[in-house]
Amino acid sequence: MSEAPEAPEGRVYLVGAGPGDPGLLTARALELIAAADTILHDRLIPARALAGARPDAELLYVGKEGAGESVPQQDTERLLVDRARAGRRVVRLKGGDPFVFGRGGEEALALRAAGIPFEVVPGVSSGVAAPAYAGIPVTHRGLASAVALVTGHEDPAKGDGDINWPALAAFPGTLVFYMGVRRLPAIARSLIEAGRDPREPAAVVERGTLPDQRTITATLATIADSAERERVRAPSLTVVGPVAALAGELAWLPERPLAGIAVAVTRARPQASALAARLSSLGARVVQAPAIRTRPLPGPAPDLAGYDLLCLSSPAGVEALFERLAAAGRDARALAGPRVAAIGPGTAHALAEHGIRADILPERSVAEGLLEALAELRPPPRRVLLARAREARELLPRGLRELGAEVEDLALYETVADAPPEPVLTQALAADYLTFTSASTVRFFLHAIGGRATPGDTANAPTNARAIAAHTRILSIGPVTSAALREHGLEPHVEAAEHDMDGLVRALLADVAAR
Ligand code: SAH
Repeated sequence: MSEAPEAPEGRVYLVGAGPGDPGLLTARALELIAAADTILHDRLIPARALAGARPDAELLYVGKEGAGESVPQQDTERLLVDRARAGRRVVRLKGGDPFVFGRGGEEALALRAAGIPFEVVPGVSSGVAAPAYAGIPVTHRGLASAVALVTGHEDPAKGDGDINWPALAAFPGTLVFYMGVRRLPAIARSLIEAGRDPREPAAVVERGTLPDQRTITATLATIADSAERERVRAPSLTVVGPVAALAGELAWLPERPLAGIAVAVTRARPQASALAARLSSLGARVVQAPAIRTRPLPGPAPDLAGYDLLCLSSPAGVEALFERLAAAGRDARALAGPRVAAIGPGTAHALAEHGIRADILPERSVAEGLLEALAELRPPPRRVLLARAREARELLPRGLRELGAEVEDLALYETVADAPPEPVLTQALAADYLTFTSASTVRFFLHAIGGRATPGDTANAPTNARAIAAHTRILSIGPVTSAALREHGLEPHVEAAEHDMDGLVRALLADVAAR
């Protein structure tokens, strides 16, 4: 019996998030993330692991930042206990598997001692998955009939660790060292000194299962030098054993055109995720630094019956329109009367998700393209409703009026600043490509990095623009965005020929291929 029967019983789930590829999150992990009241997570969880969390879930970062600051283990355990005692469903999300070098056992003991019920959800451990993505089976008939998972964390030079080097050197099978990049020279030396064959194959897998995974193969004697030469960084792990030599033969990951390239995405998060997923699947390391976010404006649902054309220019506009309709107890049938025009495939897609097929979808995804398409419309539109952002351009209403239409410009949402955290901005400013998909992202991004200029105030913008690394190439989705960049003292290196996401990705691929 619970002591406080009126409070729901809290519970902690110690959940493995897998090694990095979001596809390696288990079905159970996704289910628990979606239901959690509180999620405590480390740094080494897949970037999109938290995408399915409830908007009102409490997200707490309790990881370590390299050698720098970290949340003490005791504090993490106290948080788990406190939140569970408050009746919350708590997910403790850890990279890989919670019980493989994840301190999951310690947390489970603390929970048991506090009388908190818990469940353990195993995850795909990096020690097996990263080698697998590199074409290395950790066991293999005839080559390795055992595998040892070893921490490389302890300093062999100090001789104070728990690692029994002679026993490891004699181990008849594959050795997988976690956490050992910096200690790799000492690890290799200790193994060789303890009798392991220096000619034995070895491999380092960096950022295993992530889009920019790298594998370096050598021998036990040379692996530390190779890793240093290739500037291997964390997270990475080392495989020692004959199976490491299979990496060359069994490499199966397709060559990805954007491998090793960092691309920063500045658009609002909901729209950024599709672009980020596309870029990741092409091998890019994506930095999501949303400079803007959209906020629906309150207001009544428009009565669409009186219009013969409804124009939507963004997915955010579509969402805001359907929110207003839903609030008024209405649905897609409200759009039965007018013809529907959409600018951009993203907008058409958002409409399709609500069961509406756009009648007019101009080839060029800009206002000019829509005006061209509408000029050919027979009969010409008479009463038009433009449902869009408050700060949208004048071009469309003006052009429509010139076509003889009566135009109602309905502001459904507004664009406001979103401030990416400082470390994210720093990464974005050093990325190989910085992508801009609208004039407002340009303004708000420069505002965010300057912290001085107000959007629209161009006086400080050139100073802010200088914070962007010299090697960073600026990619603009189209002429309006490019104009905004120039207004802020930035010349885009690449402008997409087609002004939509596909066009942007194509332009990026072409630029990378040409360099
Ligand atoms: N519980 C985790 C391991 C945590 S220890 C698991 O089961 O995978 C952290 C170490 O795991 C890192 O220092 C690194 O050696 C290894 N690691 C984690 N993710 C990795 C990845 N994507 N690629 C290579 N090594 C990784």
